[in-house]
This record gives sequence, structure tokens and C-alpha cells, in this order.
Amino acid sequence: MRIMFLNPPSQQTRSALSLVVLASIWLAVLGNWVLWRNLLALPDLAGLHRLFFGAAFALIIACVTAALLSLLAWRVTVKPAISVLLLLAAFSTYYMAMYGIVVDTPMVVNVFQTDTREARDQLSWRLLITVIGLAGVPMVWLWRQPMQALPLGKQLIRNLGLFVLALALAFGTIQMIFQDFASLMRNHTQLRYQINPLNSVYALLDLTVIPSDAPKGPMQVLGEDAQIKHREGLPPQRPPLLVFVLGETARSQSFSLNGYERATNPLLAQENITSFQHVASCGTSTAESVPCMFSHLGRADFSKRTNEFENMLDVLQRAGYAVLWIDNQSGCKDQCNRIPNINTSDLKIFGECESGECRDTVMLTQIDAELSKLPAERRARGTVVVMHQMGSHGPAYFKRTPAEFKTFKPECTDTSLSQCDRNQVVNAYDNTIVFTDYFLSRVIAWLKTQEKNHTPAMLYVSDHGESLGEKNIYLHGLPYSVAPPEQTTVPLITWLSPSFEKLSRVSTRCLQANRDKPLSHDNLFHSVLGLMSVKTSVYQRELDFFAACEGS
Ligand SMILES: [Zn+2]
Repeated sequence: MRIMFLNPPSQQTRSALSLVVLASIWLAVLGNWVLWRNLLALPDLAGLHRLFFGAAFALIIACVTAALLSLLAWRVTVKPAISVLLLLAAFSTYYMAMYGIVVDTPMVVNVFQTDTREARDQLSWRLLITVIGLAGVPMVWLWRQPMQALPLGKQLIRNLGLFVLALALAFGTIQMIFQDFASLMRNHTQLRYQINPLNSVYALLDLTVIPSDAPKGPMQVLGEDAQIKHREGLPPQRPPLLVFVLGETARSQSFSLNGYERATNPLLAQENITSFQHVASCGTSTAESVPCMFSHLGRADFSKRTNEFENMLDVLQRAGYAVLWIDNQSGCKDQCNRIPNINTSDLKIFGECESGECRDTVMLTQIDAELSKLPAERRARGTVVVMHQMGSHGPAYFKRTPAEFKTFKPECTDTSLSQCDRNQVVNAYDNTIVFTDYFLSRVIAWLKTQEKNHTPAMLYVSDHGESLGEKNIYLHGLPYSVAPPEQTTVPLITWLSPSFEKLSRVSTRCLQANRDKPLSHDNLFHSVLGLMSVKTSVYQRELDFFAACEGS
């Protein structure tokens, strides 16, 4: 109210600052209803105290938003600036309310990397209503307001005045509730990513203007000394063939191989495989995990790297192997930039593809032709193929499985998961795991057909897990420090043909005896190089989970 006093409306026109104040209050109160709902559900505060705390918190958000907007409170810029914040808050609110996600930098990266097909999966009339209600209605009002014309100097002084006043008020209020505020933020770190629209603004600034600690230096060559170790008893006509299946959004908890009570792995259960039980992902989203999985740096060093490095596939190729990336998803996140690659998601193959996407099994229809295009002298040494699955990509799980794989019914067919009965969400998700089980068994079957000329093996690992309504959280992408185990525990399954066991001197029996050993994505780079007998100074034997079983 003190702020309003600075700007008495004159002759029906609106001052820029009055619009800023109204917008800030709207955003703080209505644009944050998910935050208020979550805050009310916390046991930390009770009774009247809780109301007082909530009001103070809202005032702080309004003040900081007003301070931010006061920098843009010029005749020409104020309406666009307010509109952008309203839209950011509306979209964030929808995703926060529907999926329990929060808005942080990796989440915004994901939004930018999402392709149109995934975006289409997420559109719904609820999104439309949220955006119209929280942003559309106030924007119609906003753009109809005639603006007051002030000399630039005068406007500058007023804007600075509001900026200082708003920050002072915010600072004073924080002081008043500091104890509660600090402990709440410490105990519930996720709350800070739920403050609209400041979370989106921060994430966007973090991506663009804030100097990032992301690598700036030139691409570093990796494993220049890489070569294939000479192996005793390798018949030259049967080189190794490894299929590395890069899974999508598959969580370990939903695999019957890992103790899930539903039969989600009926086919893999019949194969001589090893399913590792405790595998931690590098990140909680595709954009975070995938580059880290192929990196020689572990999770901790990967996030601190000052340079980009070449990856596992570059080293395998440098050692002399034929390498191929088949992508049935939205791309390889720069991991296949220097190796032969194809995308199968846009193919139009009857029985494999419908309504703009293809089943993961489509990759098997292309593999023979694509492999024959690779240089023969490389194939004679051995081949590594990455198959990047569409897997269990949500929220439209039901779209990932053909009718004959819908073992669990009824399925949730609403992309707003929180609108479905939780059982239906779990059903739809479990069906995607049943289909992945089928896909992996098909990969193994194909590898078995290659045994005449190759020595085949398969390694399957998912990029991150998924929340299915546990504690009301859906999907994935929570900051790693607060992410639940459902998002960070992934399946890791290996299949070695008898000839591969002989060649690598690693037995499945020994791997199975080690299946409870805690592993993580940090192990992948070194384990694949070890399995493929690549000798290089970047290889670390202690991270190679096959090494312990060598000679077994
Ligand atoms: Zn993913």
C-alpha cells in the first residue's frame, strides 16, 4: 500500500509502477498456490503462526518480484515483462501441480531439449485452463490499460525508488521470520525451486547470463593411446559384438528381476543374464545423465569439469572398433557427434511406427543394413552398437506400448498423471517395462543369430528412474540432492553369450554372485572399455565391474 501511494493514478491512465505492484501481488499470491499448498502440508509450522509466516513469505516474494520488474518498468517494456512473468508462472504452476516437479536449471534445459512429439504428449486442457486463468485473464486486462507518459528522468527516479523500497521491505520481512525461514529452506530444499516466477527467472538467467561453471575450454581428446589388447584364442573370424542398450526412464524398483512383485520381466527371466540390484544414476534427467554415462569422469568430477571431453564411444572408435549409434528418441545429447549414427523415430514402418513415433523394436529392423555400412576392417576387429530407447518416457506411458503388451489394466490415459488413480499410472508404467523386457529379449535373440560370425554380448542400463506418485511426486528431474530413490536407482542388466564369456574370461555365474554390489553410472566407461579389451591410460580397473570376475 505504501508503494501505491507513490503513484496516484491520474486521468484514467496507469503508471508503470502501479502495474508492477499489482502484477507482483497477483504472482505472489495466485501464481504460487502450489507453494502455499505444499507449505500448508508441512508439519514444521502450525496454527496462527503458520498464517503469519505464509503472509510474510508472500510479501517477500511480492517485493522481490516488484524489485525485478521495477528494472523493466518503462512505458514500452513493462507490459511485455509482466506478461512473460505471468506465462512463466502459469506454465510452472501447471507442471508443479500435476507432476510435483520443481523448476530448476536442469529442468529448463530439458524443456529446451524436448522435441515436439514429447511436448504434444504433455498438452492437455488442464494446461490450457491453468494458463488462461493465471496468465491469460490478467494479460487481457493488462494490455487494455492506457499508460501514463512520464519523462525518462522522472520514471528512472521512480523505478529506482520502488527497487530500493521493495528490496528493503523484503529484507526487513526476512529478518522478522529469519529463524523459521532458514530452517524451512534447509529442511525442505525443494521449496526454493517452487517460488514462482523467481525459480524460472533464475534458471533462465543461470542458463544465459550468469557465468557458468560449464566447460568453456576446447574439446579434449581422450584415450589417444587406446588400442585393442591382443587376446589369446580369439578366432579372427568371430570378433566381439556388443549392443549397449541405453534405456529411458526405467526405474529399478519396477523390474521383477530386482524384486518387484509384479511379473514385469517374464522374458528376461528365462535368459542367462545378470541384473545388478543397486545401481545409482548420474542425474535425474536425460540431459544430465546421458553425457555423464559416457564420460570417463564420475558424477562428482563431471559436474566440475572445465573442459568437454571425448567419450567412451570416441575411445572405442579410436581403438579400432566399428561404432554405431541408433537413436529411437530425441537425440544422442552430443554423444554420437563423431561416430556413425541414425535416428529411427521418424521412420514409417508398418507395424513398428504409428502416430509419429516408432516402437523400440524398430531399431532391430535397421541394424543389419546399418552395420553393413560400417568399414569392414573395423568390423573385423569388433563392433559396439548403442541403441537409445524411447523406453518408459512419460507422462504418456500408455503411448509407449502396443495393445498386446498391456498386461496391467486399466491404464491411465490422461497426460495429467495426478488426475488418474495412482494404480492406473503404475499399470501404464509397468506395461512399458514389460515392453522393454520384450525388446531386450529380442535384442538377445538377434545377437544369438549373429553368433556364427561374431562373439555377442549385451549391456542394458537406464539413464534415470521415475516417480510414480510416491509422496505425490511424479516424473523425474528433481535436483539430485533431494531426488527420491525411485528417480536415481536404475536397472543394469548384462547378457554374455557363452563365446563372449570365453573371450572375455568373465563368467555370468561370477557376475550374478556380485549382483548386490553397489554400482553407479560412474562404472560404465571403464567397464565397457574393460569388457571390450581396450588398453588406454584413461581406463581405471577399480571402476570396471567386470574386472573382479575376470578369469572366473
Ligand atoms: Zn531420460
